[in-house]
Amino acid sequence: MSHYHFDTLKIRAAYDPSLHNQAVSPPIYQTTAYEFQDTKKAAALFAFTEPGFLYTRVNNPTVDILERRIAELDGGSAALALASGMAAISYTILTLAEGGGRILASPYLYGGSTDAFQRLFPRFGIHFDQSAAVIDNPAELEKEIKPDTKAIFVESIGNPTGAIADLETLAAIAHRHGIPLVVDNTFATPYLLNPIQYGADIVVYSATKALNGHGNLIAGLIVEAGKFAWGNGKFPQLQEPEYLLRDRSTGRKRSFLEVTPQAPFVTRIRLTYLNYFGAALGPFDAYLTLLGVETLSERLQKQVENAKKVVAYLEKNEHVAWIQYSGLPSSRYYQQGKKYFPKGLPGIFSFGFKGTIAESEAFLDAIQLWSYHVNVGDARSLIVNSPKTTHSELTEEEQRKVAIEPNLIRLSLGLEDPEDLIADLDQAFATVFGAAAQKERQS
Ligand SMILES: *Cc1c(COP(=O)(O)O)cnc(C)c1O
Repeated sequence: MSHYHFDTLKIRAAYDPSLHNQAVSPPIYQTTAYEFQDTKKAAALFAFTEPGFLYTRVNNPTVDILERRIAELDGGSAALALASGMAAISYTILTLAEGGGRILASPYLYGGSTDAFQRLFPRFGIHFDQSAAVIDNPAELEKEIKPDTKAIFVESIGNPTGAIADLETLAAIAHRHGIPLVVDNTFATPYLLNPIQYGADIVVYSATKALNGHGNLIAGLIVEAGKFAWGNGKFPQLQEPEYLLRDRSTGRKRSFLEVTPQAPFVTRIRLTYLNYFGAALGPFDAYLTLLGVETLSERLQKQVENAKKVVAYLEKNEHVAWIQYSGLPSSRYYQQGKKYFPKGLPGIFSFGFKGTIAESEAFLDAIQLWSYHVNVGDARSLIVNSPKTTHSELTEEEQRKVAIEPNLIRLSLGLEDPEDLIADLDQAFATVFGAAAQKERQS
């Protein structure tokens, strides 16, 4: 089906109406548990020799459809849905560096990720080397990989500065050192970019954002590519025989690699971190996310176009000091953007407000149509002063290091009419700087 611009059939995967009274929309399996039928079947389920549903903390038929569809869309072997993007990231990191180790990461990350990496994970013996070279100079990266480095972690397009990772180069370097490349693909979604196509081994999502796109739930996903050589000795947690996976009749212990050679990573997380730490996605939220994914291509393409129009407006505005949008030829990420985002860039970018902090706050207070809250990729267009909100966990110095200036304003384009969005920005600038000056500028 490669002739499709975007393979909509994959969005309809993993569900057969003929098994559900011909219901077109997948049912919400609002159940805690599942009948085992008989003792033989129960034994097989618990030995994982037969697929099936055990308990909704571990798996659920509605959640399962979401997992299969996202795995299909990203070209992965399997996926695991979780209660949040942070759970997806944290379980991934804990699994990769279990018992201690290092992760080489981009510094241009979601504020919550950087905060957890710098201040929480070290208490578990997991240390992060956040190096700008990951994005800006991957060829220099080789020397940053230490014997106990367990993975490279990047966002495909960074938050909120628009830094684009050279996934192909990063994957090649990671694989030379026997470690996986992990990509947070939240902004791009599988519609704009499939990291696995460029060699990524694990893709994580906050489905809270553009994947669901309606600002009504929190969800996360982990997708496994299914090609990484986990048996190379660096990841004994996937390679060594486990009591959990013993064959109940013979007592023989098996490893995750042996039981699920195509998906040992997400299966390990499902049966350990999800099972015991418990950030399970509920079936109703999985159902809402399935609805959101139905319109993924339409929403994302509209956001791409809306962003281009708003950027063109801001470029001509005298109260704009700079624009960080990787689609501008002046951006250092312009070429990278052309390569990795042929359909266009996600509608999330930032600009520098030219004026005092008080004026920028008056500007935000004058905005009517755009929403002022922290979420991106939503159906509603969003405007936010990141240094004071989304990235307020970081110190001022940490903010400066990742190019988050005090006057930064972040936009995330939604689905409204672009002319209306521009008119709203215009009236807010006029409120702050005076309508007369505004008019003069336009003539
Ligand atoms: C929001 C976000 C997260 C965290 O996801 P939650 O679903 O809010 O837990 C992680 N990464 C990126 C890039 C995000 O935007």
